Amino acid sequence: MPSGIEVIFLGTGGSLPTKSRGLPSVAIRRDGELLLFDCGEGTQRQMMHAGLGFNRTTSIFISHLHGDHLLGLPGLLQTMSSLVRDKPLDIFGPKGLTSFFKALHGTLGFSATFPVQIRELTPGETVERTDYSVRTTLAKHDITCLAYAMEEQERPGRFHPDKARRLSVPEGPLWRELQYGKTVKIDGKTIDPKNVIGPPRPGLKVTYAIDTRPCQAVRLLARKSDLLMHDGGFSLDRKEKAREYFHSTAEEAGTLARAAKCQKLALVHISAVTRDDKILLREARRVFSHTIVPTDLMILSLMRSP
Ligand SMILES: [Zn+2]
Ligand SMILES: [Zn+2]
Repeated sequence: MPSGIEVIFLGTGGSLPTKSRGLPSVAIRRDGELLLFDCGEGTQRQMMHAGLGFNRTTSIFISHLHGDHLLGLPGLLQTMSSLVRDKPLDIFGPKGLTSFFKALHGTLGFSATFPVQIRELTPGETVERTDYSVRTTLAKHDITCLAYAMEEQERPGRFHPDKARRLSVPEGPLWRELQYGKTVKIDGKTIDPKNVIGPPRPGLKVTYAIDTRPCQAVRLLARKSDLLMHDGGFSLDRKEKAREYFHSTAEEAGTLARAAKCQKLALVHISAVTRDDKILLREARRVFSHTIVPTDLMILSLMRSP
C-alpha cells in the first residue's frame, strides 16, 4: 500500500469565483480511488488540470445545497457520460440531493450512461468502506450543512524479524501466520504475535468543514485530524459579516484547529472580498501556526506513519 494520500485543492474560493479561485471542491487521491468533497461550478476543468481522470472509482460528498457547492455536478456527470465512463459513481449529501437530481433529469432530459447512486445522509451517519470510513456531523450554517471526516482504519503493527529469530521461529510460513496475527507453536512453545509485532499504526484522518461557524460538533469530528480543511475566508475586520453569513474568520478556524489537536489547517472558502491571503494567514497563525491558505490546484501529500 502506498504510504500516503494526496489532497488536491481544486477550488478554494467561496460564494462566487474570482480570477484566481474557483468554487469549492477538494479531491483526495487514495490508492487509485478518488474522493471529492463538494463540486462547485468548474470542478471538471480543474480535475482536467490536475490530471485526475474521469473514470476512477469515485465518491462525491456534497456539504450542502447552496449553488456554489454543487452546480459543478451536472457538467461533470455529462462529461463523464460523453467519455463513456463505466465505473459506478456514488454521490452523498444532505436531504434534498435526490430531488436536485430529479429536477436535473426532468429539465435537461439527461441521465448518466453509468450507474449513479445517490444517498442522502443525516448528520451523524457514517459511510463505511473497506479500509476507511467517512463520518458526518452537522455544521453550523444557515441551511443543513454536513461536515465530513475521512478516517483510515488502523494498520497492523510492524513485524520484527529479529524478534521472531530470537524466539527461534524459522523464516517462512510461520512468519506469515504471525504477520496475520495468528499464534504459532514451535517445539511445544506458543508464540504470541504480540511478541513479534509492534503496536497498530494509525491511518490518516482528514476533515472537511466548509460553510460553518466554529462549533462543538465540528470540533469533535475534527479531533486529531492530520488535516482539517475549515471555512476561514474572513479576516478579523469582517468578523461580524462572518457571523451574519454563517462562516468563520481565519482566526476562529485556527482556534478550532488548535482545540481539536489537528496537525495542519487549510483555510477554504476564501471570500472574494479578501484581497490579501497573508492577512488570513497571519491571523490564523497567531493561534495555530500550522496553517496554510491553499491556492487552486495545490497538492498536499499526507504521509502515514511508517
Ligand atoms: Zn459556500
Ligand atoms: Zn453555504
